[in-house]
Amino acid sequence: MNHSSLLPNYARQQIAFSHGKGSYLYSTNGDSYLDFASGIAVTAMGHNHPALVAALTEQAQKLWHVSNLFIIPEQEALANKLCQESFADLVFIANSGAEALECAIKMTRKYFASRNQPERHRIITFQGAFHGRTLATLAAGGNAKYLDGFAPDMPGFDHLPFGDLAAVEAAITANTAAILIEPIQGEGGVRVATREFLLALRKLADDCGLLLIFDEVQCGLGRSGSLFAYQQAGVAPDILCLAKALGGGFPISACLASQDAAGGMKAGSHGSTFGGNPLGCVIALKVLDLMTADGFLKSVQQRGEQFRLGLTKIITQHHNQSQFTEVRGQGLMIGLKCQAPVAEIQAALIAKKLLAVGASDNVLRLLPPLTVSAAEIDQALAIIAEVAAATAP
Ligand SMILES: *Cc1c(COP(=O)(O)O)cnc(C)c1O
Repeated sequence: MNHSSLLPNYARQQIAFSHGKGSYLYSTNGDSYLDFASGIAVTAMGHNHPALVAALTEQAQKLWHVSNLFIIPEQEALANKLCQESFADLVFIANSGAEALECAIKMTRKYFASRNQPERHRIITFQGAFHGRTLATLAAGGNAKYLDGFAPDMPGFDHLPFGDLAAVEAAITANTAAILIEPIQGEGGVRVATREFLLALRKLADDCGLLLIFDEVQCGLGRSGSLFAYQQAGVAPDILCLAKALGGGFPISACLASQDAAGGMKAGSHGSTFGGNPLGCVIALKVLDLMTADGFLKSVQQRGEQFRLGLTKIITQHHNQSQFTEVRGQGLMIGLKCQAPVAEIQAALIAKKLLAVGASDNVLRLLPPLTVSAAEIDQALAIIAEVAAATAP
């Protein structure tokens, strides 16, 4: 492409797609790709899912938007469903992951402000985290590369090594309000928090009167093999952020909370013009119906096991000369640690018509749709094996 009128803030692959079906994307120049990027863990039900297309087109002919000046029955139904499936009592619906996090951060500050403890406003977060690109969520993530040039950083965040319990214990002061963590870091390189660490954070939060916030924008909604990643650890947070897969490609997000954690939020405390419009809510409800149907999550677990087993085999075949050195993740949120720069591996896979996503720590993220078939996993494994052989160090 010679000239683009778009802000040059993305380094895009030079491919454009015209349509998709299930696990496949079709490019404008006629190639078909196996899509294990899923628009960064968004199109969890695959492309062009008939039930989602039907939900969207049916609602599109009725009503798109009225604003939160009015009751939105579809939004009520979505919130009910999210509460029914989780620890939560109350839900705020927004449009993007960062907005769900903004709600969590504001809710935390309001919680303590409403208890006459406004000095408790600092939030502990973890190195390698990604919480979004707004000024608050950038500060929460603390990634120097993303913050560069946008000073002054919003205050209120303490960044600690991921998994370091002693550091968390030492960092808690009279100003600490909450602990915010991704149970599985996505951007950070598919790093899974141990069950012990999450349990210990829950206990610390309870002992010190802190709120525990889980950012499941990427690892939530079936991706980990359970509807929410926290269910596998057996630890419930006080606040939970969801987004990417919630609308299966339609932009919608949610901030879930216990009655207690949401205690400071009153009429006027927060809002969004677009958040929770009938169109998005009907689609998200359908996504949740599909994900909670009998056997769906079981199949995600099985496909995940198949995929990880196959990847481990590729690594062991090449012994100490393997391009890939480690398989990470849970369910269908999988990371492959590479020796060569991950961008090179990604390009080699694209040349063989397999799409994947890069991450920090030189990790390749493999995020197939949760509807992926066993044969499609095998097809991806064959391509990855070819690239492993061709690029072995
Ligand atoms: C993608 C992501 C976000 C930000 O979501 P946006 O929709 O891009 O604002 C926040 N947290 C995590 C864990 C994410 O993966």
